Amino acid sequence: MSAIKCVGILTSGGDAPGMNAAVRAVTRAAIYNGLKVKAIYRGYKGLITDEIEEFKTQNVSNIIGRGGTILKTARCKEFMTPEGRMQAYETIKKHDIDALVCIGGDGSLTGARIFASEFNFPIVGLPGTIDNDLFGTDSTIGYDTALNTIMDAVDKIRDTATSHERLFFIEVMGRDAGFLALNGAIATGCEAAIIPEIATETDQLGELISQGFRKSKNSSIVLVAESPITGGAIAMAERVKNEYPQYDVRVTILGHIQRGGSPSAFDRILASRMGAAAIDALLDDQRNVMIGVENDQIVYVPFNKAIKNDKPINRELLNTLRILSI
Ligand code: ADP
Repeated sequence: MSAIKCVGILTSGGDAPGMNAAVRAVTRAAIYNGLKVKAIYRGYKGLITDEIEEFKTQNVSNIIGRGGTILKTARCKEFMTPEGRMQAYETIKKHDIDALVCIGGDGSLTGARIFASEFNFPIVGLPGTIDNDLFGTDSTIGYDTALNTIMDAVDKIRDTATSHERLFFIEVMGRDAGFLALNGAIATGCEAAIIPEIATETDQLGELISQGFRKSKNSSIVLVAESPITGGAIAMAERVKNEYPQYDVRVTILGHIQRGGSPSAFDRILASRMGAAAIDALLDDQRNVMIGVENDQIVYVPFNKAIKNDKPINRELLNTLRILSI
């Protein structure tokens, strides 16, 4: 018999479409297995300010298709201090919570790892981020929806780029990871993607310019990952304007629309599988792991691996983009 009788659930860090589907899945799978569920509001902040409510199955009705997170999310500086985490631990004890399921990105899972080892407390993480930058899972919850949002937006910008024969630099999210930019570029037939992973090995813009942006085309679109490493779309556009004044250059920054909207079928299913797997993992005495899906199989990824290892970009995709943009 597992010693776990009550599971706390929270969403933390940047919101991502599909977080609600994950909250629903964790809640329902826990109740199905005879566990109590305590919903914690505003991520780790709610553990410090004691914003906790018991959830029944009806608390998660009709949320599978909603973007954002009904639990709210926040960034919490106090949780980064030992005193803050001690306060969080006291709240957890007060509410008789025996284990936590934390849904969030790299930062949230780092916080979970530190807390779990400090208090020897069982935590299972779910990868909830549009960036897809967690190691050990083919996809994170929210990534597919964000990619589809980017695709819709770029398709629309393509209309004006073509009509005016312009060169567009479109900035997408992904501070340290180029998954959205690279796959977004392939999905929309872009000329190139400028991504942080290869920023130090090659002058991506220089290469592109030297190919002449394909004279046969009457518009060009380049997706740029928002990152201090790439410099972002504005910096790219400035460079082209200075060095190649013949191009009619425009910039669009997609911004927060990338995080919003109803999750795709893929993200709803992924979040549902991962949420149910989180409860299985806890009942199976798994500790301090992130749930991943690799090759369509649920896997348990130790926090250390999920957070610390840089998830590599698939070089074959870069090559495909190059070949198809001639
Ligand atoms: P994301 O989870 O989307 O990557 P953040 O990096 O903002 O978002 O992290 C979310 C929260 O996780 C932070 O506000 C903080 O409460 C917690 N967190 C992040 N890093 C740490 C850390 N090193 N130690 C403790 N808590 C952390």
